[in-house]
Amino acid sequence: MIVIGGGLAGLAAGVALAEAGWRVRLFEQRPFLGGRATSYVLPNGEHVDNCQHVTFGCCTNLEDFYRRVGCAEKIKFFDRLLLLDPQGRTGHFQAGFLPAPLHILGSFLSFRPLSFADKFSIARAMLDILLHKGKPSDLQEGAEISMLEWLKRRRQTKGAIDRFWRVVLVSALSEELDNIDARYGVDVFWKTVLSNRTGYRMGIPAIHLADLYEGCHAAIKRKGGEVTLRAPVRGLRIENGALTGILFDGGREETADAYVIAVPHGIFAELLPEDVKRSHSVFSNLSNLKDSPITGVHLWFDRVVMTEPFVTLLDTTTQWIFNKTALYAAANGAGGGASGGQYLQLVISASYDLLQKSRQEIIDLCLKEVRQALPAARDAQLVKATVIKEAAATFSPEPGCDRWRPRQETSVRGMFLAGDWTDTGWPATMEGAVRSGYLAAEAVLRAAGSAQRFLQPDLPPDGLVGLFS
Ligand SMILES: Cc1cc2nc3c(=O)[nH]c(=O)nc-3n(C[C@H](O)[C@H](O)[C@H](O)COP(=O)(O)OP(=O)(O)OC[C@H]3O[C@@H](n4cnc5c(N)ncnc54)[C@H](O)[C@@H]3O)c2cc1C
Repeated sequence: MIVIGGGLAGLAAGVALAEAGWRVRLFEQRPFLGGRATSYVLPNGEHVDNCQHVTFGCCTNLEDFYRRVGCAEKIKFFDRLLLLDPQGRTGHFQAGFLPAPLHILGSFLSFRPLSFADKFSIARAMLDILLHKGKPSDLQEGAEISMLEWLKRRRQTKGAIDRFWRVVLVSALSEELDNIDARYGVDVFWKTVLSNRTGYRMGIPAIHLADLYEGCHAAIKRKGGEVTLRAPVRGLRIENGALTGILFDGGREETADAYVIAVPHGIFAELLPEDVKRSHSVFSNLSNLKDSPITGVHLWFDRVVMTEPFVTLLDTTTQWIFNKTALYAAANGAGGGASGGQYLQLVISASYDLLQKSRQEIIDLCLKEVRQALPAARDAQLVKATVIKEAAATFSPEPGCDRWRPRQETSVRGMFLAGDWTDTGWPATMEGAVRSGYLAAEAVLRAAGSAQRFLQPDLPPDGLVGLFS
């Protein structure tokens, strides 16, 4: 069995197949595992995440994967999400004592950055989602409307859109509301906030992302397999409708009984022979999937400037500030920046406006916002800073994008696909990537006549929602 790509999709497929008794050989082009959800050492010596990655309680497959590879306890879950607006008004989300869906009511009612009219309009839309169990009537199969359109149909106030729906969804789906398929947008609220008490809990790795994947090597090696780094695959040999080998530099070729291709969709399209791409619309259509950018800004201060582990900002370019020093220290007593100082990481999803800006312009803009939001940062010295722009961070979840996402099983014999861009029902997330890997592993085993299930069920509805589901 060969897996190409050591991101979460390839790793999930590889670990699952190894557990099913297959000898897995995984080839990754970079010197480390994790793909987009990884970390590395910068030229300035700092070990940074490619970008802060967070998970949620509803991401059941990612949690299962972390458990399989032995790093689940390195994810710290938080019950309280803090939001802050430029006027210094705070709001928080935290489950109260009431059962779902009322668990969030107390936080919602006391949320100061929203007016009464905003809250009333949000409550109406939430009720619609709730009564239709996450599938409102205008979002049935074939409907291709944007989240913004869906919200306008429900007469949402400007405040509700800008300070609630947009804040949650741009971060969760890395796209603007007018470009998000409403089914994805609605699903976020159903799975995280409405259907159960724990789906909204936010999980943050307490170690560098790349260190989460150490157990993957062991899981694959235990069954006689191997993980080869710095091994870029250059082509696929497809003959008589079957994938018969993968090609490396220097004409080297490796063969296997089955192959899981877990590289980003643009790279997969480049690896495919032209004639195969032309004759299979499912492959040529991949070019319809568009990319969306995320920008991470890393700031090192000479002193402590925030005490919260993380905060969401409203009405600013900066969307999240993560207190990396505190997040790392909580797990292993290690700091993340200059001694006595503090390392913050800022995240800006759907950062189209920043793509053309210089690194210094982005740092200046974000620093101004951080100093506005965190009074202690106003006198602090910025010791160093770096910006990581990911122009193709995720595929854009635009209305109708699902029709371009291929299944894991393909019509080319022996060739299976994994990746957050394949058909998982989820947007481009770590959860979506792991789902795709598990689905690919299931497809391999089905084709080999030894079906096995890896995909984990969603969190079941609980509280009052569970009673009426
Ligand atoms: C900046 C940023 C922030 C994000 N934040 C979050 C978040 O907070 N929460 C969340 O859930 N998701 C987040 N995501 C999305 C998440 O990272 C991805 O959805 C997920 O990691 C995709 O995994 P994958 O395995 O499908 O693809 P990838 O991670 O892209 O893995 C593909 C792998 O294939 C390798 N490869 C490519 N070509 C070849 C080749 N020719 N030969 C061999 N190997 C090859 C690559 O090096 C890579 O390791 C974020 C993404 C980015 C970029």
